Amino acid sequence: MSLDGAYDPDNIFAKIIRRELPSAIIYEDEEVLAFMDVFPQSKGHCLVISKTSRARNLLEADAGTLNSLIAAVQKVTRAVREALDPDGIVVTQFNGAPAGQTVYHLHFHIIPRWLDQPLGRHGEGPMADSTQLGDLAQLIATRLT
Ligand code: 5GP
Repeated sequence: MSLDGAYDPDNIFAKIIRRELPSAIIYEDEEVLAFMDVFPQSKGHCLVISKTSRARNLLEADAGTLNSLIAAVQKVTRAVREALDPDGIVVTQFNGAPAGQTVYHLHFHIIPRWLDQPLGRHGEGPMADSTQLGDLAQLIATRLT
């Protein structure tokens, strides 16, 4: 999908927000939801999405949505650091299929990195074990401040 198009209310993340699909939730409030990526590029790879916006990408989002999203990204990134002690953390976001976007509901990736561990390929990782993802989500959640 290009940068232009209509929001699909049945995209995967919309279904996760409505609890029509399961996810390993780290954090939730009125505005945002943070949960584990089911095809993680590294241990602790998680996603932060808006619960209220129908923006498909960064370009379509209003300032209020971005304010709440980026604050939540920082909050969860700090918790990931406390929980997993990575050497570095990538925060990224894709706009349009040519850029690598595969789910058209605005989201940020938080991807911990370790010096001795290669990064998995975006969108090509094996599906993670749901119990392990649940445990990781709980561990990260305990470090939220
Ligand atoms: P994008 O490619 O749009 O930047 O990121 C979409 C992300 O959603 C990918 O990293 C992919 O692994 C993840 N993903 C795809 N389907 C699911 C799902 O059903 N549950 C969860 N938790 N993550 C998903």
